[in-house]
Amino acid sequence: MNGPAPMEVLRQHLIDPEICIRCNTCEETCPVDAITHDSNNYVVKAEVCNGCMACISPCPTGSIDNWRTVLKSRAYSVEEQFTWDELPAQNTTASAALDYPAQAGADTNATDATDATDNPDENPEGIDVDTVRGSTLPPWSAVKPYVNLYTHKQPLAATVVGNYRLTGESTASDIHHVMLDFGTTPFPVVEGQSIGILPPGTSKDGKTHHARQYSIASPRDGEREGYNNLSLTVKRVTQDHRGNVADGVCSNYLCDLKKGDKVNVIGPFGSTFLMPNHPNSHLLMICTGTGSAPMRAMTEYRRRRRLKGATGKLMLFFGARTKEELPYFGPLVNLPKDFIDTTLAFSRTAGQPKRYVQDAMRERATDVGQMLRDDNTFIYVCGLKGMEDGVLQALRDIAVQNGIEWDPLWRALKREGRLHLETY
Ligand code: FAD
Repeated sequence: MNGPAPMEVLRQHLIDPEICIRCNTCEETCPVDAITHDSNNYVVKAEVCNGCMACISPCPTGSIDNWRTVLKSRAYSVEEQFTWDELPAQNTTASAALDYPAQAGADTNATDATDATDNPDENPEGIDVDTVRGSTLPPWSAVKPYVNLYTHKQPLAATVVGNYRLTGESTASDIHHVMLDFGTTPFPVVEGQSIGILPPGTSKDGKTHHARQYSIASPRDGEREGYNNLSLTVKRVTQDHRGNVADGVCSNYLCDLKKGDKVNVIGPFGSTFLMPNHPNSHLLMICTGTGSAPMRAMTEYRRRRRLKGATGKLMLFFGARTKEELPYFGPLVNLPKDFIDTTLAFSRTAGQPKRYVQDAMRERATDVGQMLRDDNTFIYVCGLKGMEDGVLQALRDIAVQNGIEWDPLWRALKREGRLHLETY
């Protein structure tokens, strides 16, 4: 007897274009290349996504965690998703076919068609650490941060209370320290988190600019201790990645702000690139350029907290083209040697060979090896995209040189929330 043709139903993974800040984290994390983007949106290829969930927890905004029940034959194509300004409502025909309640326009927050325990928040063991390069979980002792308190639809207006250039006037690299104050409105943040800035105006196609993400450079208790403010480290973008002249929309806006100006802020974002809070935890920090922002936040928190009993070591490798282009050079070199072990690497100092952070790490292989051996070491890498491979390779080489097997160590670092990568 012929029954009706079976309807194949799919729990389709989608990205909310209203919340997404286009940071590329999901595309980089996805182990099966199911995520792609155009100049408008980040989207998921329905036929490629296997629901592995590797992308969920690294997403700083939660925009990645959206699901719609659809008939497989009518899954949203990437072309359709590229045109969206908001997610479509749940289609009732498809959800009825699976006996799911239709929630028009709502986030179902379910993880896939079969088993909600696949949610990494509920089942950390469920993440296949072999498919990701860094941790998708925070350190065990990190505080639980607030995220997404302010959104595109309801941003918070912050007041600029300071803006000055950090890099030498003679250098082409214009990096600013921008301080924002939130007055009496709560904006709770912790070190390692970032915020979104909504630059005013519209792009060529008349759409409002999407938010840009900036790491917070100050500790949780404020740029000025005890104040409701924070700081950012912003590099003025004047060239695109190929070296062609291009005035970056948001970085130029931020670098040109004056004291008293109002800025629309969204966030905070990020729940994995966070510092451990047990006092004997060690921080191994590796950064270039504005990647120093979260390291400054963590270092300053530990400097303030040190007075209250933190004993763990801090080791920093910091790279820039020249000394003049290294943000926070002055304050950094003045920090006591028994508080932080800093090695600088300059790649364009006249008359000297190029030296990158990974070269500096190799030169300190014995000390880095000692940190790698300690289960209380937490590693943070932040800065230019290009540094990630080199730093991971250096860590591997140093481990091997110190008689440590890299693959099991790498797996443990990822599983235990001890290896955090944030490059852009
Ligand atoms: P756009 O108008 O978006 O781009 C202009 C052109 O420049 C485009 O062609 C674009 O491809 C190219 N471009 C974009 N970014 C760069 C870049 N960094 N270098 C060279 N060319 C570029 N930036 C900071 O300055 N400080 C931070 O602390 C910081 N933290 C970040 C944290 C995360 C997690 C991420 C994902 C990004 C972070 N960024 C940071 C980068 C920031 O979000 C913006 O991408 C950057 O400021 C450029 O934005 P724009 O609007 O000025 O340029």
